[in-house]
Amino acid sequence: MAPKLPGILIRLAAVGLALALPKPLQTDDVPAGSRIDPVPEWRLSLYPDAHPFAFTIVSDADSSYSRRLAPLFEEFDSDRLKITVTAFVFWADWAKKGKIWSDWAAPAGSERAFFAPVAVPLEDAAERAFYLGLAARGHEVGMHTPSDNSDTTEDLARAFVRFEEIFGHPPSVYVEHSGQSNKETLENEGSDPRSRYYSLGILNRYRPWVWVDGSMALPRRSNPRYFDLAAVKGPPFTDDAVRHYGIPKVFMRTGKWKSADGDGFLEWYSKANIDALEAHRGLAIVYTHLNEKWLDRKTRKMRDPLRARLGYLASKDGWFVPAGTILDRIALMKKVVLRREDLRVIVENRNTSAVASVSVISPKGRSLCNETGVFRPRATGDILLGELQAGETRRFGICR
Ligand SMILES: [Zn+2]
Repeated sequence: MAPKLPGILIRLAAVGLALALPKPLQTDDVPAGSRIDPVPEWRLSLYPDAHPFAFTIVSDADSSYSRRLAPLFEEFDSDRLKITVTAFVFWADWAKKGKIWSDWAAPAGSERAFFAPVAVPLEDAAERAFYLGLAARGHEVGMHTPSDNSDTTEDLARAFVRFEEIFGHPPSVYVEHSGQSNKETLENEGSDPRSRYYSLGILNRYRPWVWVDGSMALPRRSNPRYFDLAAVKGPPFTDDAVRHYGIPKVFMRTGKWKSADGDGFLEWYSKANIDALEAHRGLAIVYTHLNEKWLDRKTRKMRDPLRARLGYLASKDGWFVPAGTILDRIALMKKVVLRREDLRVIVENRNTSAVASVSVISPKGRSLCNETGVFRPRATGDILLGELQAGETRRFGICR
């Protein structure tokens, strides 16, 4: 039974209750700096210097010949695109240690003299000089297996030693050739220690980034964002292949198996797809053969549509560096962690090495503050934090 209270006390109690209840917050009531952002949330950029996307090419050496590659690299250089070009180290059996040149011989300047040579390896002195020149110009030279045919464990060991003699370091990128025909590939006999084509031991000794020719090498055929690895769950690393083969660094390329050439590049890297790559902070590590389909047969220069498309790409602020550099960076960024705690953003470098030029992507143009000042976003949303030392943690408040 409720106690009987004088009417005045009941009315006072009702007023007190009303005063104690919080009134529902209107959006405009929220004090500055205290609003909780919905997703998209605060996150880290994978790339340094606030570049909004990364793009490079990892070429397959199958049809390589320096005289056909040279005009293409003139264009890459003028567009400031640094790429990864792979090379065979040794002649294939069919080339009879270079005697194939007599088959390719034709009057200087003729079509045959220019278009016939293929898979010309580092073993050839002129090719060696050409690739050393590319490396000096900032491109990355990777190894496309020892030769065009199957190579034994001993061949592979010799190839790594020879590569190191030529360039002063082992290759940072190793691209398998044909998994179907070449026995040293991991899907063939390369991961079988009983095979004379066992390659896994040598690869684990030198630890390059390895592109395994197989089902996990490119995004699935059905993936509509095959031109952008950041849009494909998991890549650029293929952790399934890492587990399956017991090899630490396996990567994926963008593109599709058919027509990995100049025509395919024009089709996949349309202006719309390049725009999407930029808008989504994407990553392209392009699978292509820098073969005659990149060249105008008459002028022997890069085809005009390809030159125009690369010009469009290069007009954007992409990160245009070789694949090894991109993959090393993303591997480091896997261990840089951003945590959001209420109105704070905490960035922690869990690597045992420093990470250069880290940026946080701000949602809705919000700034970060700490005792050293206010860090405002650029137009892209990137807030540059600079270098994070090994094990360093930085804490910020979210401010306007
Ligand atoms: Zn190949």
